[in-house]
Amino acid sequence: EKGKLDKQETLSLRKKHIGPSCKLFFKSDPLKIVRASGSYMYDEEGNRYLDCINNVCHVGHCHPHVVSAATQQMAVLNTNSRFLHDNLVLYAERLTALFPPKLSVCFFVNSGSEANDLALRLARTHTGHRDVITLDHAYHGHVTSLIDISPYKFNHPGGDGKPDWVHVAPVADIYRGKYTDKDYTIEQLSEKYADEVKMLCQKSSKEGGRVCIFYAESMQSCGGQIVFPPGYLRQVYKHVREAGGVCLADEVQVGFGRVGSHMWAFQTQGDDIVPDIVTLGKPMGNGHPVSAVVTTREIAESFGATGMEYFNTFGGNPVSAAVANAVLDVIENEKLRENATEIGNFLMQEFRQLQKKHELIGDVRGQGMFLGVDLVKDRETREPATAEAAYINKRLKENYVLLSADGPYRNVLKFKSPLVFSLENAKELVSKVDSIMEEMKQVEHCVNGVVEQNGATEKPSSKSKKHTQWITK
Ligand code: PMP
Repeated sequence: EKGKLDKQETLSLRKKHIGPSCKLFFKSDPLKIVRASGSYMYDEEGNRYLDCINNVCHVGHCHPHVVSAATQQMAVLNTNSRFLHDNLVLYAERLTALFPPKLSVCFFVNSGSEANDLALRLARTHTGHRDVITLDHAYHGHVTSLIDISPYKFNHPGGDGKPDWVHVAPVADIYRGKYTDKDYTIEQLSEKYADEVKMLCQKSSKEGGRVCIFYAESMQSCGGQIVFPPGYLRQVYKHVREAGGVCLADEVQVGFGRVGSHMWAFQTQGDDIVPDIVTLGKPMGNGHPVSAVVTTREIAESFGATGMEYFNTFGGNPVSAAVANAVLDVIENEKLRENATEIGNFLMQEFRQLQKKHELIGDVRGQGMFLGVDLVKDRETREPATAEAAYINKRLKENYVLLSADGPYRNVLKFKSPLVFSLENAKELVSKVDSIMEEMKQVEHCVNGVVEQNGATEKPSSKSKKHTQWITK
């Protein structure tokens, strides 16, 4: 399989006809992927890449069971969601059985953004309030309403800043957030961070608004693979509910068993933690666009009581529902949650071993197949090693491994592979990261991850065999 066009033609057609802000991985040398299977992706020259970043093709690329469910249903019927169809209701029954009983009603949509936008409407109608509490660095989607509540967007180039009805709480990042484990115990940290939300609830009331919703991932991805301290959500949910708001768990990235121990990341904070609204997306259809809002009967009824009908042409159509159902089959039949725990634990342990060897690794965190390796220039100050992270990802790609970096400083190596990632895959990743970190010890400077061979202007260190300097571009 080579694709229909030469890679350069693909690039130039893309430049001509696709909006220039549409983002590509590895911008300076984008990959043209023509097929994929399991944990691997293949480019037009047949090179095989180990995929450590694909949180969409959750049960493995092109899983045959999912492909066959889609094609079989497509050959029989696909239509809009205004007709009765068994696939939709059976899937809704199966999906809600995976949640605490209170979360029993679904709305099916086609993307994480659509799910989050609808969730906001549900919360506003139900509470009659408008104000949103969001976490710093959060991203919840690309539609107008969600750019407004995503500091990852509104605080960055092209953003319009924070609207007055949005309140931003510091993310409970105990390694490099507002309060850290250098100064406080874990219990103090969860209280300190939860109190920040409480203060925002008070601020919102004082300013005449009222809290509508606390909007958060239960482990934060864009913020740099952040795991909240135990007890954090329990306290936050209490404060928000006391202020008359509802609580939302955005499980678009972290849901469907990625965290291993549970199906949903909010469950890792305790069995008593029950959001009022949960949004789902990316992994739900293994690449097919299907997503959902799951909520309580009361909230759904409030929304229904306005008299305004909700209609979503593609949401939960027979093919989407068949695909989503097949994804759950695979998660269960292949015990992918168990695999996420097993391989995730192995990776965590191996990265912690690397941490002993490489000063660059400041922190290793996460759960299951949601892991972050926080790179630092100095372990004491925890100064983020942004250029080093870019360099590692560039070298990994040259070694046929795809990994990315995230967090406000883009210094956190972000692992979120398909859940079929094997022990062999994990060993390959760790050994390649290890060799690249070794190789970096021989290099004098690293700025923005751009490497210039033999361009050293400063004296290389005595240990250095290579005269390589990393130059700013
Ligand atoms: N929520 C989170 C946490 C996300 O990471 C994303 C996508 N990166 C979205 C929502 C939006 O999903 P989509 O791109 O499917 O609209």
